[in-house]
Amino acid sequence: MKDIKQQDSAYIKIVDRYSRYIESPVLRLKYLNAVLKTPQPDSLLMKLPLVGSLPERARLIVELSKLLPPSNPMPLALRFTSLLYRLRFAVYAVCVVATLAAASGLVFIASKAISNLSSPTVAKSIDPAETGDALDPSKAVSTIGNEAGLPLDKVWLVEKSESFEEYSNGARILKDFETAGAERKFYRFDLDKVNSDNANFPLQSKPVGIIYHLTESDLLPFSNQYNASLKHSSQALMEYARAHRLYNYIIDRFGRIYRIVRDEGVANHAGNSIWCDGRSVYVNLNSSFLGISFEGKAEAGKGPDGITEAQLYAARVLTAVLRSKYQINDANCTTHGLVSTNPTSRLLGHHTDWVANFPFEAVGLTNKYETEMYAISRFGFAYDQAYVTAAGGKRWAGLSRADSALWETAKKNGVVIEQQRRAFWEVFQRAYAKQHAIDQERLASEEDVKEVSREP
Ligand SMILES: [Zn+2]
Repeated sequence: MKDIKQQDSAYIKIVDRYSRYIESPVLRLKYLNAVLKTPQPDSLLMKLPLVGSLPERARLIVELSKLLPPSNPMPLALRFTSLLYRLRFAVYAVCVVATLAAASGLVFIASKAISNLSSPTVAKSIDPAETGDALDPSKAVSTIGNEAGLPLDKVWLVEKSESFEEYSNGARILKDFETAGAERKFYRFDLDKVNSDNANFPLQSKPVGIIYHLTESDLLPFSNQYNASLKHSSQALMEYARAHRLYNYIIDRFGRIYRIVRDEGVANHAGNSIWCDGRSVYVNLNSSFLGISFEGKAEAGKGPDGITEAQLYAARVLTAVLRSKYQINDANCTTHGLVSTNPTSRLLGHHTDWVANFPFEAVGLTNKYETEMYAISRFGFAYDQAYVTAAGGKRWAGLSRADSALWETAKKNGVVIEQQRRAFWEVFQRAYAKQHAIDQERLASEEDVKEVSREP
């Protein structure tokens, strides 16, 4: 048995408080003797507010009730404690739930605070609209784009008919303008072996990535006054896209997703282009990447005008459908402005749609304006002022990273930048020649499909 001095002070306090309900000094002493002689509670448990001391208090109240005169009713506070004890398991459950809720609330608040501190994007920093009109749609797009990308859930086909497909994440793909394309055939080059004579790159046929576009078609004001005309102009766009097999998908301004060229077929969306995810390299991406185009138009240096929330949502669910279906890596979801090349001038940015301001995060992807542009750092491409101007006038992180990497390599090899560029250009030519050969074969076999120049 413990000495009173060693007993827990919280327990002593409760005993002391309860003993005051006994008027007679003799009975009070008897009570103190009875309760302080019994084994003491776990002092750690006693530190828990309310629930920790509940069994002890119940026991003290039982002892107390033995000494209180039968005529005196049990004090209200003590009756409440007894009730709590009888319902203790429910009380414990409520406390556990409340504690967990409070803890998860704290975690949420903390993570929110951290993400707010750490999520400025380059897309935002190069967006001149940031300081402009609050109603500017391109500003809304890049603001929404600030949330972190979500993990990819499995998405499945729920319903299918002649005219549509519906998926478990709410994506609804309309098939009114669907058409077939030539079979996909492309090389996946290993970044580290692309220049090796012995490397064997097998041909592939399943899409490995997604490129986002703007249709660059003239837009009517997005307003109910133009409802009939809006529908009509969208219809005309779809028909034109189908006739020329321009994209795999178009998202119109109402957020409706139209499939144009079926996934397994090549669409003429990317032209001369290159993308590297840090491990694999793909050249001329029509065969290897799916093309999704937003009905919209970009103003030079100002980003896309009038992209709607409905389009953003549609792009998000369509991206999830395609990534889930073909196990497409986030690293290979990028924009036309970041991949388009001019093989004769050796410059990037032949097309500049979404060279800035693409809302990657809103579409559930990581920000590719941060990704090193391997076309520059490993394949000999350069860029001019027009390219930077198209992005709003500022170089973005991925571009600067590539410049630094190229400079480091040249320094290490003891050559000037231009010499290093030429050496890398030879590497690109080898990969280009291989892919170009199978693309030419395909074009020769497609008598009715002419390569067309889109996005004038
Ligand atoms: Zn494009």
